[in-house]
Amino acid sequence: MEMTDLKAQYRLLRAPIDAAVRRVLEHGQYIMGPEVAELERRLADYTGARHCVTAASGTEALLIALMALDVRPGDEVITTPFSFIATAEAIVLAGARPVFVDVEPGSANLDAARIAARVGPRTRAIMPVSLYGQPADMDAINAIALEHGLAVIEDAAQSFGAAYRGRRSCNLSTIGCTSFFPSKPLGCYGDGGAAFTSDDALAQAMREIRVHGQARRYHHTRVGVGGRMDTLQCAIVLAKLDLFAQELAARQRVANRYERLFAGRVATFAPRPDRTSVYAQYTIAPRNRAAVQAALQLAGIPSAVHYPVPIHRQPAYAGMDQAGCPRADQLAQRVLSLPMGPYLAEAAAERIAGIVLAADGR
Ligand SMILES: *Cc1c(COP(=O)(O)O)cnc(C)c1O
Repeated sequence: MEMTDLKAQYRLLRAPIDAAVRRVLEHGQYIMGPEVAELERRLADYTGARHCVTAASGTEALLIALMALDVRPGDEVITTPFSFIATAEAIVLAGARPVFVDVEPGSANLDAARIAARVGPRTRAIMPVSLYGQPADMDAINAIALEHGLAVIEDAAQSFGAAYRGRRSCNLSTIGCTSFFPSKPLGCYGDGGAAFTSDDALAQAMREIRVHGQARRYHHTRVGVGGRMDTLQCAIVLAKLDLFAQELAARQRVANRYERLFAGRVATFAPRPDRTSVYAQYTIAPRNRAAVQAALQLAGIPSAVHYPVPIHRQPAYAGMDQAGCPRADQLAQRVLSLPMGPYLAEAAAERIAGIVLAADGR
């Protein structure tokens, strides 16, 4: 068993994916070929955002978004310490300082109620993460941003396809950035990502920054990056899009099964009623994580901790913000992600939950 079975998906989509790859190999436009623009159109339509700008990875999309917003040295960006490192890394690469605000216990997402106290004269943006696939409280975060004249970048690397109050993740704020890393809910077969916005000027800036800041060939009006997503990877995501709705429904079925089995016995991160999750991870907070990990390992079932060390405790980042984040510290000791994916049999989820419950003394 694997955390996410990527090969089952390929077996199902072999013919359309192979054909899409062959088309690219034959037309030969390996960089910025027609599939890039087509994917950007399809994804923009899906999210409801006016623009989609694909990028070399989710991390690159975050960096390009910050650069387009003109975030620079001396600026501060408020974010969560309970995320994959790329969230804070992009802020630091842009030259700014991450300011860590603690998370809510129920969702492990940035706690909107704690943001205003940390807004200062150098704050430029807020970067919430839609952790495990569930958006943060974006309306509350957007309201704080509006009051203080800040941009909001949703790190939606784990949440493409999720909904919040009838709107789609990636279209919930100034800019939304996602990732097509293979194990994300919508993955390619390498690295890829995208930034979404409905602001025409920001979209134009991101398109230019993605290609070395060029307004036209060999004329560079900004400092940019080499941050394009290649045509082959765009073709692969396009080939997977037709199955995406079905896959999200299958993820939801697996999550529902886990939720029923854990109800009242093990803490989970089930989405709030006004939003959905795409379950990039299915994560629980058992009482006795070490025992659960050991029992799963003994049964040959993989599990993972997302994340064992919060970013404000990482050696490279620990000096950047002295404020404490005790909930993130606590979650890092408690959380455990279980196998999840559209091709995980419900019987397998039942077996996994049984082992978890027995090991956790429930
Ligand atoms: C995966 C991930 C990223 C980075 O995406 P890449 O495509 O791997 O660069 C950023 N933030 C979060 C929360 C992620 O899970």
